[in-house]
Amino acid sequence: MTQHYQITLLPGDGIGPEIMAVAADVLKVIAQKFNLQIEFKTALIGGAAIDATGEPLPKETLETCRQSDAVLLAAIGGYKWDNLPRHQRPETGLLGLRAGLGLFANLRPAKILPQLIDASSLKPEVVEGVDIMVVRELTGGIYFGQPKGIFTSETGEKRGVNTMVYSESEIDRIGKVAFETAQKRGKKLCSVDKANVLEVSQLWRDRITQLAPEYPDIELSHLYVDNAAMQLVRWPKQFDTIVTGNLFGDILSDAAAMLTGSIGMLPSASLGASGPGVFEPVHGSAPDIAGQDKANPLAQVLSVAMMLRYALDQPAAADMIEQAVLQVLDRGDRTGDIMSPGMKLLGCRAMGDALIEVLES
Ligand code: NAD
Repeated sequence: MTQHYQITLLPGDGIGPEIMAVAADVLKVIAQKFNLQIEFKTALIGGAAIDATGEPLPKETLETCRQSDAVLLAAIGGYKWDNLPRHQRPETGLLGLRAGLGLFANLRPAKILPQLIDASSLKPEVVEGVDIMVVRELTGGIYFGQPKGIFTSETGEKRGVNTMVYSESEIDRIGKVAFETAQKRGKKLCSVDKANVLEVSQLWRDRITQLAPEYPDIELSHLYVDNAAMQLVRWPKQFDTIVTGNLFGDILSDAAAMLTGSIGMLPSASLGASGPGVFEPVHGSAPDIAGQDKANPLAQVLSVAMMLRYALDQPAAADMIEQAVLQVLDRGDRTGDIMSPGMKLLGCRAMGDALIEVLES
């Protein structure tokens, strides 16, 4: 039976359109193989949306996303829009999309591929076998807490203010996602906070601890964020699933990303309680290499695999994409960010062609 899906594509800025073109081509090949009928809608977000409409997240974009089965996002941002007022910046569009779709859970896998072990800046014996899932809270914490802003006091001095806040229900729902994720993986969950200094973190630790009896098969531990950062580079294999708040998760997931050698290899999924999820690479818009056909499209392609697995319930199609990625790496095909001696250097488009060749062989 043919399955019908509506997918919204948000190419965004910088390398976004280049990597999205590859991902869409891969998805079209997969759709044919698995008899999936996919209707694509492309919408504006980030700097591209600011240029066209004056807003980083036009209403039509959010509406199109809401009506789709899943959203595939590339990346937003760039130097051109860095000096605009905060509400007009590309990043505001991304935060608005997450809030508008109620995407409170961000799943970021960091898995070492044997073919790329030399691309890691850490020793092979430290990173070999690393397979971590960072579950980051995405719609709360200091990025959203009120009050926020730059205020001028009566003396004329400016004060920048942000507020780190989590309610019990926000902690509980991300905690449940994390425990359930750990159940599907190595059954170890490490909760990361700064409970020795921050009250909001003390509440976080208390609630996560209170959830633990519901998941007797999970081994729960807690780490302060500074120690977690250190342990991630010291002995990352100790981690299976990590759960943490928005700010700490932003930073730790990038650190976990670098264990794998390239940020250009890492997909992510952002999920809500219901409605479409957003699937996107961990990396940004890489303005330094935009338009040069140098971007690694594999994180975007692996985001398509996560979308097939988590949103469209097509695990065999997801497996086929992940296998194709391993096969092109086995052939020695590399983009610049994961290049090593003796391998074949490809541009973004050629890497896409290599994937399609493997998928069609
Ligand atoms: P970045 O991830 O864009 O780039 C960091 C470094 O990694 C750069 O040297 C870049 O060339 C490289 N890189 C990233 N993706 C790559 C890929 N696919 N292939 C090869 N190399 C790649 O982070 P940044 O430089 O801190 O930010 C650039 C812009 O992206 C900023 O405007 C930032 O706000 C935005 N950003 C957006 C997102 C998002 O859309 N989710 C996330 C992070 C940053």
